[in-house]
Amino acid sequence: MTSQPQFALRRGTSSPHVVLSDGNSIPQVGLGVFQTPPDATASVVQTALAAGYRHIDTAAIYVNEVGVGEGLRASELAREDVFVTTKLWNVDQGFDAALKAFDHSVQRLGLDYLDLYLIHWPSPRRDLYVDTWRALAHLQADGRVRSIGVSNFNAEQLQRIVGETGITPVLNQVELHPYFQQRALIATHDALGIATEAWSPLGQGKVLTDPVIAAIAARLGRTPAQVIIRWHLDRGQIAIPKSVSPRRIAENIDVFDFKLEPADLAAIAGLDSPDGRIGPDPTMANF
Ligand code: NAD
Repeated sequence: MTSQPQFALRRGTSSPHVVLSDGNSIPQVGLGVFQTPPDATASVVQTALAAGYRHIDTAAIYVNEVGVGEGLRASELAREDVFVTTKLWNVDQGFDAALKAFDHSVQRLGLDYLDLYLIHWPSPRRDLYVDTWRALAHLQADGRVRSIGVSNFNAEQLQRIVGETGITPVLNQVELHPYFQQRALIATHDALGIATEAWSPLGQGKVLTDPVIAAIAARLGRTPAQVIIRWHLDRGQIAIPKSVSPRRIAENIDVFDFKLEPADLAAIAGLDSPDGRIGPDPTMANF
């Protein structure tokens, strides 16, 4: 059983959207559910949908797709009103394996179609991501997924799949937060018409105590998390902050009624660091 929603939809919690290159649009703020325990996921998703989220980001490897589907159904929202993303895990790379992995994911989610399917990591040691990408294109042509994209791809890998298949991912989901701003990769995205989606948008919480962020938050009467999420929005990025706390879930989407000043954006730009990466480097990751 899922618990009752704890937040009603509030003013100011309707997310702006980013229009993708295939014409579909994605809510700019979504709920990430990495490390959300499977047995808590339905309740967390239901809480988020009641708080105004219309976008949930999961993955096969998070082992909580079942809970995402349960939370979605418990919300009683119309299917077309919620944008659901899941991701193909590395062991499922390759054309046939990818088609099977997709079937398993939508079965676990209990959905007829998916909004966005991503290749989770390029996994260069397998060298199967071009074939995997062809499988995603096949699923899209069949109408089983509305949009297809990738995650953790570098510029060279993006150019390779576009060059070999003629199909451009609608977005690339990558580590991105004030300590690791990915300027060079974003320039490649812009050149190819690929939207930028930020994972660990709060730097897994590490950026929340930064004094520059704290000073902006104090001046605006906002929380550090809200300032960072607003920074993502002001840069045109999609952000998928994770929390299981109803208070933080609501706080993280209550960001649509203020903007940062140019001086704030300049101060946050100064936090970028070549050593700011927190997660694995996709070009080195050997899984
Ligand atoms: P995050 O930057 O969203 O930070 C989450 C941490 O911040 C948690 O510890 C949480 O308790 C804390 N937090 C959240 N809101 C807060 C608030 N308002 N106040 C104080 N603390 C707060 O990091 P994440 O979970 O790594 O990333 C978010 C999502 O990105 C994941 O859930 C997942 O969907 C996605 N992701 C994708 C990949 C990938 O390879 N594609 C990798 C990592 C994460």
